[in-house]
Amino acid sequence: MELLMLENFIDGRFLPCHSYIDSYDPSTGEVYCKVPDSGKEEIEAAVEAARKAFPSWSSRSPQERSQVLNQLADLLEQSLEELAQAESKDQGKTLTMARTIDIPRSVQNFRFFASSILHHTTESTQMDHLGCLHYTVRTPVGIAGLISPWNLPLYLLTWKIAPAIAAGNTVIAKPSELTSVTAWMLCKFLNKAGVPPGVVNIVFGTGPKVGEALVTHPEVPLISFTGSQPTAERITQLSAPFCKKLSLELGGKNPAIIFEDANLEDCIPATVRSSFANQGEICLCTSRIFVQRSIYNEFLKRFVEATRKWKVGIPSDPSASMGALISKAHLEKVSTPLSSKLQKVFGREAQHKHHTHWP
Ligand code: NAD
Repeated sequence: MELLMLENFIDGRFLPCHSYIDSYDPSTGEVYCKVPDSGKEEIEAAVEAARKAFPSWSSRSPQERSQVLNQLADLLEQSLEELAQAESKDQGKTLTMARTIDIPRSVQNFRFFASSILHHTTESTQMDHLGCLHYTVRTPVGIAGLISPWNLPLYLLTWKIAPAIAAGNTVIAKPSELTSVTAWMLCKFLNKAGVPPGVVNIVFGTGPKVGEALVTHPEVPLISFTGSQPTAERITQLSAPFCKKLSLELGGKNPAIIFEDANLEDCIPATVRSSFANQGEICLCTSRIFVQRSIYNEFLKRFVEATRKWKVGIPSDPSASMGALISKAHLEKVSTPLSSKLQKVFGREAQHKHHTHWP
């Protein structure tokens, strides 16, 4: 099998890297792709390109930038099937999910911000007694550093790129090293859509190496991050000395609360879907369910029955409800019995206490 070799995209050009890391097909466990193992050098090159592109891109009118974003959306839409197949293979999610959610939403992200920038308004305050009018003008910050996770790869990456460039910023994006393929495919459309060189730079590699080089670069005043809490803590610490603008979208342990008057016909399929869609790899997935004691047994029986009907299959199988988990490490994490996780968090005694409170 021929390996897919990704390259960084800097200043409108694909550039090879000095070293590469393996990327796996989660459904087979085989290495099928090599991802650039970038570092400081690549970030320097991307910063230079983004800095050079900023004056001209930020002084374009919102109408002009909007047109470019719409053009990009159209190109992505024309390649929806190709992108969906790539996303499913790279991430392990079902092809159905990639076709109906991930890629259509990526297209919509560009369309949404292409429209939103045309209707953008700001506030003003009149102070008649002083003869003053205070008003706000929003200006782009410069180079935005965008770091995205592996669960909804193109969806969340474009959700960051689209608003940043619509507002006149230039960007350096770093997708997850586990799911870099659709970001690399996106690069092919950027020049075609008329995105000027240097406006969008995509640099691939690991968090500790290239991610930290981006976060600590003094010429990148804004970091937008989606991912886990520990990484967010690290990014906050690293960027604090620079007083960077930070946007952090993190994980949660979202509970569903089911009361006895709930309509179980609707509630059971909704709860199964909210728990297991995208293999349960969504930040807003239900990870705890609180059920009123009076309907607990009934709910549990029906929830388990409905869950058993969910088919785990190869991602391209149209009848599969769930594909493959992203990595072996993640499989081990979610397979760890709840009791040992509790033990880690609460210690032996508290673990026992918690068990006795559960029906
Ligand atoms: P992660 O924190 O391990 O990685 C996210 C990104 O950060 C990756 O690109 C990674 O390479 C990079 N990174 C890792 N260490 C870094 C460092 N030291 N410096 C800079 N960058 C670094 O998260 P993940 O496992 O890829 O993603 C899953 C997490 O994302 C889950 O917790 C999930 O709930 C959360 N998530 C949240 C949202 C949301 O909107 N709130 C959406 C999707 C996922």
